[in-house]
Amino acid sequence: MRERRVDRGAKSMDYYKFNFISPEDFSIIDKQIVKVKSKDLIPLQYCDEPEFTNSYPEWIEKYATELDGFIAIDEPWKPKNKEEEEALVSKFVEGLKKLLDKENNWTFLQPLKLSIKNCMKCNLCSEACPIYTSCKKEIYRPTYRAEVLRRIIKRYIKPGIFGRLTGADVELNARTVMRLAELAYRCTICRRCTQTCPIGIDNGLMTREIRKLFSQELGIAPKALHKQGTISHLLDGSSVGLSPGGFKSFIKEIEKDIEQLIGKRYKLPVDVKGVDILLVNSILDYIYYPETIASFAIILEKAGYEWTLSSKIPVLDAVNYGMWYDDVQLARIALKHVEAGRDLDVSRIVVGESGHGHTTLMAAADRFFTDEYDIPRESYIPLLWDIVRKREVKIDIDTSDFPVTLHDPCHIVRFVGIVKPQRNIIREICPQFREMHPNGVYNYCCGGGSGFAIMNSMNFPEWRNKIASRMKIKQLVDAFDTELNPSIKKYICAPCSNCKKTINEALSYYGLRRKYRIRCGGIAELVVNAMVDVESKILRSHV
Ligand code: SF4
Ligand code: SF4
Repeated sequence: MRERRVDRGAKSMDYYKFNFISPEDFSIIDKQIVKVKSKDLIPLQYCDEPEFTNSYPEWIEKYATELDGFIAIDEPWKPKNKEEEEALVSKFVEGLKKLLDKENNWTFLQPLKLSIKNCMKCNLCSEACPIYTSCKKEIYRPTYRAEVLRRIIKRYIKPGIFGRLTGADVELNARTVMRLAELAYRCTICRRCTQTCPIGIDNGLMTREIRKLFSQELGIAPKALHKQGTISHLLDGSSVGLSPGGFKSFIKEIEKDIEQLIGKRYKLPVDVKGVDILLVNSILDYIYYPETIASFAIILEKAGYEWTLSSKIPVLDAVNYGMWYDDVQLARIALKHVEAGRDLDVSRIVVGESGHGHTTLMAAADRFFTDEYDIPRESYIPLLWDIVRKREVKIDIDTSDFPVTLHDPCHIVRFVGIVKPQRNIIREICPQFREMHPNGVYNYCCGGGSGFAIMNSMNFPEWRNKIASRMKIKQLVDAFDTELNPSIKKYICAPCSNCKKTINEALSYYGLRRKYRIRCGGIAELVVNAMVDVESKILRSHV
């Protein structure tokens, strides 16, 4: 690639402190282009605010720290010399061509092309983005990464006769490629910006497609998503490496826990053929929130449903991290999920508390699978509302008389459109329910979307807590504003394992769990808590 002669990298950080970082600067500045400081962040009332920690010098040699100093891609991948830099750039150009080609990208090419072509630069989407609004850094605008990509395409893939006059001014060099890869992991793909855009430009999809280019064509992706994520999921059984044998042991432990807690044994059926429901749950629920799984077992048994779990690889885990970075991995896992339903001869697959499990098995799988694979797939939330509404279990509304608010997982509300049933359930059983604002399809992401919940290398959790989860923490503190007194226990209902994990970690990070007794859990536990014929309350020890 031709190197730009004027090196503006010598400009001081002061020059850039007002965030005048144009897409052109993205390829030119020769040091870290943004440093987020505590004073840049919108203030959070009642929260402890830990200082940013320093990064380690050895990180600079191995990882792409040139963007904002944070590291999402935690495999050492930085080119070591000129040849490696050139190889990186040339692979990127080849990958970009494939991304824009019908033969190689049939899945999302049309919305991608429309989004590349049609931005009016009105910036309405910026104020909708929880990442940008948390600290107002230019590079975090929804349009910034899209504009960098757009300008690279204009210059290197589809050059026009007016070249730079039409914005084809981003230099493609190793710095640009490395920054773009990291910048694709500074967006939770919550698509709040997409919903706000008057012409439907999907900046979230553009983020996702950039990640795909890096994964499928350059083999570059965060370990938690790829190596420890989809690869391990397809080989071992789950995204955390838990095998079918380990899964069955977990099930036995949960059965014992239920018996200990409520004095009665409930069976968690596994691999039973010919029943009504195959329930698929996120493995994170088995590990971190077994009370959610236990609650499903109690509710389904009491309500008289015939159901089963599957111990099959990779069906024992409902997650599908391919959704966030790689079409091939996405399709492989989704196919196994629907095949399991067919093999077990169930009437329907019900997706448990996994937000993106809803999108992959419902909205995305609808595009991939037809005929024998098209077995009914649905969310557990309307089913749970039916159980409560029809009183298939006996309910006493007075047992959950504590402040409760509801977090809306992006994939359940904005992506799949399930908004009312979860509210109906909570309004029915929690007299002190209050909404956080904004809510429903206007919700803020928990900060753990698009894989961030499980990306815990180096300083990335700090970025997630401080920036990605910031607007969520702000709105949930506001929801409990009048009841912050620690003598009052408070519950955030988040019907998605990733959201629960992210919110609980952020609550701990900001000292809110301990100081104000706020805890985040699922919705099934709330239902069990309100059931009159359950011998002991599953939430009693937690809330
Ligand atoms: S709201 Fe839409 S048109 Fe306006 S800047 Fe954002 S993406 Fe472009
Ligand atoms: S998808 Fe969400 S995080 Fe990403 S740019 Fe849009 S609003 Fe921001």
